[in-house]
Amino acid sequence: MGIGEWADEVLDGIERARRGVDDLFEPNLRLGVTGLSGAGKTVFITALVASLLNRGRLHMFGAQTERRIEAVDLRPQPDPDVPRFAYESHMAALTGTDRVWPESTRAVSQLRLSIRYRRTGLSGLFGPGVLHLDIVDYPGEWLLDLSLLDQSYADWASGALAAAESAARAEHAKDWRAALSAADPSARHDEPAAEALYRAYRDYLQSCRQAGLSALAPGRFLMPGELEGSPALTFAPLPAIKGAGRGSLYAQMQARFEAYKRVVAKPFFRNHFARLDRQVVLIDALGAVAGGPRALADLTATMAETLSAFRHGTNSWLDALLGTRRIERLLFAASKADHLHHAQHGRLAALTEAMLAEAARRAEWRGAKTESLAIAAIRATSEQEVMRAGRSLELVRGQRLDTGREAAVFPGALPEDPQRLLATANAAKPGAVPADWPGQDFAALKFAPPDWQAGPEDGPPHIRLDRALDFLIGDKLE
Ligand code: GDP
Repeated sequence: MGIGEWADEVLDGIERARRGVDDLFEPNLRLGVTGLSGAGKTVFITALVASLLNRGRLHMFGAQTERRIEAVDLRPQPDPDVPRFAYESHMAALTGTDRVWPESTRAVSQLRLSIRYRRTGLSGLFGPGVLHLDIVDYPGEWLLDLSLLDQSYADWASGALAAAESAARAEHAKDWRAALSAADPSARHDEPAAEALYRAYRDYLQSCRQAGLSALAPGRFLMPGELEGSPALTFAPLPAIKGAGRGSLYAQMQARFEAYKRVVAKPFFRNHFARLDRQVVLIDALGAVAGGPRALADLTATMAETLSAFRHGTNSWLDALLGTRRIERLLFAASKADHLHHAQHGRLAALTEAMLAEAARRAEWRGAKTESLAIAAIRATSEQEVMRAGRSLELVRGQRLDTGREAAVFPGALPEDPQRLLATANAAKPGAVPADWPGQDFAALKFAPPDWQAGPEDGPPHIRLDRALDFLIGDKLE
């Protein structure tokens, strides 16, 4: 080790010690925000930050209703190598003259918000306190990589090849399998051939995902982040061969799979996931119901797979890394609840709870507190009741995203018993939709962001964002 590196180590040590002392007086709390693509992570974080900076609508956030929050400020984030969450440009999109939804999450990013508050004294401490809230945004697809870490290339490849033969996937796998049958794993490695196989396999995974089929690892093939095109991502499954020569395509694919685990998957779990204290998992359950039985069954399966990262004993590498550390609170939030009348919100929360019951049970077993809520981080609709043929119809009203015109729609109703809906979803044949399947209009609804011209004290309109916040950080502000 050179002198420069020694110096770096010492400085790192001093920095860590300094942070340790700081943490004693001004603790930091790392809040992870995840969910599959389109679940609502970007909108959630933007609304959370805007609502904490302008707290006029946080009626169910204890520290705020008790008037103990003195100031909230955006601070430079402490990890210089992690991109900053683009809060300002997302707000500019939402509040500009065009009012558009912000650009969705593509990779990990982070933001620090510092909250100065008065303590209640319940914690044994009195007077002013400061909490640094580090919000970490990351694609839920990346959690799928946990399943790879304990597998060899041969195990993973044979699993992937077998999965592609299932009735539901065979159609999507056609092009990739054609590319595969033209490849010779024992031939000398050739970069264009490797790239072609990677692209065909990635396209197959993406086509499965678009069809609502449950997602498969590697997670970066679905959401590459900044690594698109790098060698660690340029691999694909090949059938096992006897005695793959050192320079062969097979040997190269195997080496890249190992590199993916080492330089892509593990650093994400080590540097981001393992450091989280609290976690919100957003889930577009309504969108899945609208997509039909298969989409709901597959979202449930994918969530079970991604959420296995939150349970102990799933992966020996992660267990060793986490030790006794654990996520203390886990919130399952059904997003975009403003697409439904509030009379339906309880059913949406119950459906989410039923979909994620297994994950919640396991997280609770590890000592985490869990909760399910139906939320809208930004409420784009208002409600209206009209009488039709002697019956009251519960409508939602908002500006349509496609035409820009104001519209009132009856979004349909969710069934009372979520278990039955899930059982129907699991039993349904591909493409079949039972006649009594609910809410086939949910998908057609897309509303523009609202025009919130409230006072300077008001953040965006929302549904239960304040309750989500209270669950996630309320106890740290006592
Ligand atoms: P991400 O991929 O998880 O970052 O998803 P986004 O936060 O970008 O959300 C995807 C889309 O869902 C947005 O562009 C909006 O159209 C919609 N959306 C997300 N949250 C809400 C919400 O609270 N209300 C409404 N009406 N739409 C939302």
